[in-house]
Amino acid sequence: MAEDKKKVKALDGAVMTTEGLSFKGFILSPIVENCTGCDRVAAFEEQSYCPAYAEPAKKWARGICNFATHVKATVDKEGKTKVNPLKASKRAAKGR
Ligand code: SF4
Repeated sequence: MAEDKKKVKALDGAVMTTEGLSFKGFILSPIVENCTGCDRVAAFEEQSYCPAYAEPAKKWARGICNFATHVKATVDKEGKTKVNPLKASKRAAKGR
C-alpha cells in the first residue's frame, strides 16, 4: 500500500523564470519553516520548493498543511485532536 503512494521528489521540467520557479504552469514559492521535514520538499538551485503546493506559506496560514508527510494532526487548546472535517465525516460514516 505504501508503495502506491509515489513521492514526488524531483521538480522535473521546472524552469527558473524572472517571476520565480515555473513548474507545471504554476510559479512556486520557496518552502516555509513548517515544511521542514516534509518528504515532498524538493531542492532546485539551492532553494527548496514544494511540488505539491505552489505557495507553502499560504498553505500553512490557516493551520496544518494537509499535504504534509511529517505532520498528521494538531492538538488544539482544549487538548482535543483536530482533524479535517471532511475526513472526520467519512470516518463517522464508516463507523470508525
Ligand atoms: S506538502 Fe505542505 S508541508 Fe510539505 S512541503 Fe508542501 S507545503 Fe510544505
